[in-house]
Amino acid sequence: MSSDPIARDGLAPRFWEKKPLTKMSRPEWEALCDGCGKCCLNKLEDEETGEVALTRVACRLFDDTTCRCAQYPIRHQFVPECIVLKPSNIGENLYWMPETCAYKRLWTGQSLPDWHPLLTGTQDSVHEAGVSMLHRTVAEFEVDDDDWEDHIIEEPTG
Ligand code: SF4
Ligand code: SF4
Repeated sequence: MSSDPIARDGLAPRFWEKKPLTKMSRPEWEALCDGCGKCCLNKLEDEETGEVALTRVACRLFDDTTCRCAQYPIRHQFVPECIVLKPSNIGENLYWMPETCAYKRLWTGQSLPDWHPLLTGTQDSVHEAGVSMLHRTVAEFEVDDDDWEDHIIEEPTG
Protein backbone atom coordinates (compact mmCIF):
# COMPACT_ATOMS: atom_id res chain seq x y z
CA MET A 1 0.00 0.00 0.00
CA SER A 2 1.39 3.41 -0.88
CA SER A 3 1.56 6.12 1.75
CA ASP A 4 -0.88 8.97 1.50
CA PRO A 5 0.81 12.37 1.85
CA ILE A 6 -2.56 14.01 2.44
CA ALA A 7 -3.68 13.97 6.09
CA ARG A 8 -7.16 12.46 6.32
CA ASP A 9 -7.24 11.36 9.96
CA GLY A 10 -9.20 12.96 12.77
CA LEU A 11 -11.91 14.44 10.59
CA ALA A 12 -15.61 14.05 11.27
CA PRO A 13 -17.15 11.07 9.47
CA ARG A 14 -18.55 12.07 6.06
CA PHE A 15 -18.01 15.76 6.87
CA TRP A 16 -18.38 16.61 3.16
CA GLU A 17 -22.03 15.56 3.31
CA LYS A 18 -22.74 17.76 6.32
CA LYS A 19 -21.20 21.09 5.41
CA PRO A 20 -20.69 23.05 2.21
CA LEU A 21 -17.25 23.69 0.75
CA THR A 22 -17.46 27.30 1.94
CA LYS A 23 -17.64 26.19 5.59
CA MET A 24 -14.89 23.61 5.60
CA SER A 25 -11.78 23.89 7.74
CA ARG A 26 -8.40 23.86 6.07
CA PRO A 27 -7.73 20.16 6.96
CA GLU A 28 -11.16 19.17 5.63
CA TRP A 29 -10.58 21.10 2.43
CA GLU A 30 -7.16 19.56 1.88
CA ALA A 31 -8.47 16.05 2.60
CA LEU A 32 -10.92 16.31 -0.28
CA CYS A 33 -8.14 16.16 -2.86
CA ASP A 34 -7.98 12.58 -4.12
CA GLY A 35 -4.48 12.94 -5.53
CA CYS A 36 -5.46 12.01 -9.06
CA GLY A 37 -2.94 14.43 -10.54
CA LYS A 38 -5.20 15.48 -13.39
CA CYS A 39 -5.15 19.16 -12.47
CA CYS A 40 -1.38 19.05 -13.03
CA LEU A 41 -1.75 18.29 -16.73
CA ASN A 42 -1.22 20.97 -19.33
CA LYS A 43 -4.30 21.89 -21.28
CA LEU A 44 -4.91 23.43 -24.67
CA GLU A 45 -7.64 26.02 -24.92
CA ASP A 46 -9.27 26.95 -28.21
CA GLU A 47 -9.28 30.75 -28.20
CA GLU A 48 -12.41 30.96 -30.32
CA THR A 49 -14.61 28.30 -28.76
CA GLY A 50 -13.10 28.25 -25.27
CA GLU A 51 -12.99 24.46 -25.52
CA VAL A 52 -10.33 22.86 -23.35
CA ALA A 53 -8.37 19.78 -24.39
CA LEU A 54 -6.44 17.78 -21.83
CA THR A 55 -2.93 16.59 -22.65
CA ARG A 56 -0.77 14.02 -20.94
CA VAL A 57 2.06 16.56 -20.81
CA ALA A 58 2.45 17.17 -17.10
CA CYS A 59 3.54 20.30 -15.29
CA ARG A 60 7.30 20.42 -14.79
CA LEU A 61 6.92 19.78 -11.06
CA PHE A 62 4.69 16.73 -11.42
CA ASP A 63 6.30 13.48 -10.30
CA ASP A 64 4.81 10.75 -12.49
CA THR A 65 6.15 7.99 -10.23
CA THR A 66 4.23 9.22 -7.17
CA CYS A 67 1.42 11.17 -8.89
CA ARG A 68 2.33 14.17 -6.76
CA CYS A 69 3.73 17.65 -7.03
CA ALA A 70 7.42 17.31 -6.23
CA GLN A 71 7.58 20.72 -4.53
CA TYR A 72 4.08 21.37 -3.30
CA PRO A 73 4.84 23.74 -0.37
CA ILE A 74 7.15 25.94 -2.46
CA ARG A 75 5.68 25.27 -5.91
CA HIS A 76 4.89 28.90 -6.64
CA GLN A 77 8.58 29.71 -6.69
CA PHE A 78 8.80 27.54 -9.79
CA VAL A 79 5.27 27.59 -11.18
CA PRO A 80 3.71 30.93 -10.19
CA GLU A 81 0.65 30.22 -12.33
CA CYS A 82 -0.33 27.12 -10.32
CA ILE A 83 -3.84 27.86 -9.10
CA VAL A 84 -4.67 27.70 -5.40
CA LEU A 85 -8.20 26.37 -5.50
CA LYS A 86 -10.63 27.87 -2.97
CA PRO A 87 -14.38 28.37 -2.68
CA SER A 88 -14.10 31.88 -4.09
CA ASN A 89 -12.50 30.75 -7.35
CA ILE A 90 -14.00 27.32 -8.04
CA GLY A 91 -16.75 28.78 -10.17
CA GLU A 92 -14.36 30.42 -12.60
CA ASN A 93 -12.22 27.27 -12.82
CA LEU A 94 -14.90 24.64 -13.27
CA TYR A 95 -14.59 24.69 -17.06
CA TRP A 96 -11.18 23.03 -16.99
CA MET A 97 -11.35 20.99 -13.81
CA PRO A 98 -11.46 17.19 -14.19
CA GLU A 99 -14.90 15.63 -14.04
CA THR A 100 -13.88 13.36 -11.17
CA CYS A 101 -12.29 16.12 -9.07
CA ALA A 102 -13.86 16.09 -5.60
CA TYR A 103 -14.05 19.87 -5.49
CA LYS A 104 -15.90 20.03 -8.77
CA ARG A 105 -18.20 17.18 -7.85
CA LEU A 106 -19.20 18.64 -4.50
CA TRP A 107 -19.52 22.15 -5.92
CA THR A 108 -21.92 20.84 -8.56
CA GLY A 109 -24.00 18.84 -6.10
CA GLN A 110 -22.54 15.39 -6.78
CA SER A 111 -21.31 12.86 -4.25
CA LEU A 112 -17.76 11.60 -3.85
CA PRO A 113 -16.94 8.59 -6.03
CA ASP A 114 -16.72 5.29 -4.19
CA TRP A 115 -12.98 5.05 -4.90
CA HIS A 116 -12.22 8.30 -3.06
CA PRO A 117 -9.59 7.84 -0.29
CA LEU A 118 -11.93 9.38 2.27
CA LEU A 119 -14.24 6.43 1.65
CA THR A 120 -11.74 3.65 1.01
CA GLY A 121 -9.11 4.69 3.57
CA THR A 122 -6.32 4.32 1.03
CA GLN A 123 -4.81 6.40 -1.74
CA ASP A 124 -4.31 3.20 -3.75
CA SER A 125 -7.99 3.05 -4.64
CA VAL A 126 -7.60 6.09 -6.88
CA HIS A 127 -4.92 4.43 -8.96
CA GLU A 128 -6.69 1.07 -8.96
CA ALA A 129 -9.85 2.72 -10.27
CA GLY A 130 -7.85 3.94 -13.26
CA VAL A 131 -8.65 7.60 -12.70
CA SER A 132 -5.21 8.92 -11.82
CA MET A 133 -2.22 9.97 -13.90
CA LEU A 134 0.25 7.68 -12.13
CA HIS A 135 2.78 6.48 -14.75
CA ARG A 136 0.68 8.02 -17.52
CA THR A 137 2.26 11.37 -18.28
CA VAL A 138 5.09 12.73 -20.35
CA ALA A 139 7.34 15.40 -18.91
CA GLU A 140 6.98 18.99 -20.03
CA PHE A 141 10.67 19.29 -20.80
CA GLU A 142 10.47 16.34 -23.20
CA VAL A 143 7.81 17.83 -25.46
CA ASP A 144 8.03 20.99 -27.52
CA ASP A 145 5.12 23.37 -26.86
CA ASP A 146 4.09 23.09 -30.51
CA ASP A 147 3.74 19.32 -30.16
CA TRP A 148 1.35 19.27 -27.20
CA GLU A 149 -1.46 18.62 -29.65
CA ASP A 150 0.04 15.20 -30.32
CA HIS A 151 -0.54 14.31 -26.68
CA ILE A 152 -4.20 15.20 -26.28
CA ILE A 153 -6.07 12.61 -24.19
CA GLU A 154 -9.53 11.93 -22.88
CA GLU A 155 -9.78 12.32 -19.13
CA PRO A 156 -9.41 8.89 -17.49
CA THR A 157 -12.59 8.50 -15.47
CA GLY A 158 -12.32 4.81 -14.62
S1 SF4 B 1 -8.05 17.17 -9.96
FE1 SF4 B 1 -8.94 17.69 -7.98
S2 SF4 B 1 -8.87 15.77 -6.82
FE2 SF4 B 1 -7.46 15.53 -8.55
S3 SF4 B 1 -5.45 16.14 -7.76
FE3 SF4 B 1 -6.40 17.96 -8.68
S4 SF4 B 1 -7.43 19.01 -6.98
FE4 SF4 B 1 -6.99 16.91 -6.32
S1 SF4 C 1 3.09 23.24 -9.48
FE1 SF4 C 1 2.67 21.26 -8.54
S2 SF4 C 1 0.50 21.32 -7.92
FE2 SF4 C 1 0.86 22.99 -9.41
S3 SF4 C 1 0.32 22.10 -11.42
FE3 SF4 C 1 2.53 21.83 -11.12
S4 SF4 C 1 2.75 19.78 -10.25
FE4 SF4 C 1 0.60 20.38 -9.98
